[in-house]
Amino acid sequence: MEPDITHIEKILPLIHEYLARGSSNNTPVVQYLDHETLKSELNLSIGHDGVSFEEILKEIEKYLKFSVNTSHSQFFNQLFSGFNLPAFAGDVCASLTNTTMATFEASPVATLLEETLVRKMCTLMGLEGGEGILVSGGSQANMIATLCARNTKVPQMKHSGLTKNKKLVMFISDQSHYSFFNAANILGIGVKNVLKIKSDSYGRMIPRELEKGIKRTIQAGNMPFFIGATSGTTVLGSFDPLHAIAPIAQKYNIWFHVDACFGGSVILSSKYKHLLAGCEQADSIAWDPHKMMSIPLICSVILVKKKGTLYKTCSASGTEYLFHSQNDSMHDLGRMSLQCARKVDALKLWLAWKFHGDKGYDRIITNLFNLADYAAQFVNKHSKLELLAPRNSVSVCFRYIVNKRIQSNRFTIKLRDQLHKTGKSLVNYASIGNRSAIRLMITNPHLTIKDIDHFFENLLETAEELEKNWQDVTHIKFYKKRGNATSTG
Ligand SMILES: *Cc1c(COP(=O)(O)O)cnc(C)c1O
Repeated sequence: MEPDITHIEKILPLIHEYLARGSSNNTPVVQYLDHETLKSELNLSIGHDGVSFEEILKEIEKYLKFSVNTSHSQFFNQLFSGFNLPAFAGDVCASLTNTTMATFEASPVATLLEETLVRKMCTLMGLEGGEGILVSGGSQANMIATLCARNTKVPQMKHSGLTKNKKLVMFISDQSHYSFFNAANILGIGVKNVLKIKSDSYGRMIPRELEKGIKRTIQAGNMPFFIGATSGTTVLGSFDPLHAIAPIAQKYNIWFHVDACFGGSVILSSKYKHLLAGCEQADSIAWDPHKMMSIPLICSVILVKKKGTLYKTCSASGTEYLFHSQNDSMHDLGRMSLQCARKVDALKLWLAWKFHGDKGYDRIITNLFNLADYAAQFVNKHSKLELLAPRNSVSVCFRYIVNKRIQSNRFTIKLRDQLHKTGKSLVNYASIGNRSAIRLMITNPHLTIKDIDHFFENLLETAEELEKNWQDVTHIKFYKKRGNATSTG
């Protein structure tokens, strides 16, 4: 039986309630339950007989109840967060019209939107006359860039596969995203042929080290084909010096890719866009508007400087059934894509950008930096808190200082777990060298100084409690073990 479409109205109150929870500091960011307990709370099995739509509404309610509220003002866990109404409406309509981006025929409006967005994004990045396509995530954008680079360096690989070439080698920094290793795996490059170049104390790739690595690779008889610089690294939020890396790529004729998945949106901030200076020299750029532009997942783009590259790289044979040569079929974006059916991701980004304008996003991105600066200063001023890396952009990595008796890394992770389990704040942690740091990510456009203060209140309160009741587990085990050893020995 088909559900009555008037039921749509019954979904709205649930959405309202979810959003209201996100905007209150008195509700948990997540109602934490472990895997087993959560499993017993949910009615997971799908039966032979269906259920009524009333039952479905209850399931939706439960789903929203136990999901992590990423629009909550205490959600700092990932590189995305916040609720964006125009984008949300766009996502709902994309689902409603349920079509594919493969052909103009199937997505006439969305094709025009995507073409407009890609042109705008290319222009902002200094890649006028370039091309691009929305893809299913930044990891895929990085993979497509690697594919473009590979097929440019060894064109016969597209048709003949892994030929007996010199070994192809990629260069990224030791702060780069793991997706480059995935790309190397998929594309027959081999994970061990991805070389990690040393970064400086700010987490920026050192150009001198890059050139040394390239020279060594050539001397060993191998073929460097790809440099992946990062604009906005995943942990430290640092920006590689693109203007210094670009000439090296040029000198050795290597594809120059900029992974701006995280930091690409900084190009919209008149105050901080200088961090991307040199991006106009890139052969390709990956950019996730689903991060700092707060567009619902997924919204990612791969931009390429030289028009025609994506078609040449991604098109395959056997597509005659889909791409007919008539009318507007030259606008069939699927010809440039590795995907066949592809969701409309352009509408949500276009609506949000139209709503805020360049000026609105300038203010939003700049404000994220200001809030991160506020948070870093808070850490600096507090005697029990310590930055573990300089603040580069919107990521603040720090620890709570514990007395020498307590193992600091273990304390940091436990502190973070405690914040998670109580639902007070959801923040992640990361390793910086051999130290564990709380990684506070400020990407929610609705945040204010009050929310940052509230986060530190939650953190300090939890840390003090934890420190007071801390029992060093290894310490106890150690003595137990020794005790056992003497009694048996
Ligand atoms: C997030 C991120 C990616 C991966 O993007 P997804 O959209 O999550 O696949 C790649 N590189 C950097 C620097 C990132 O921050």
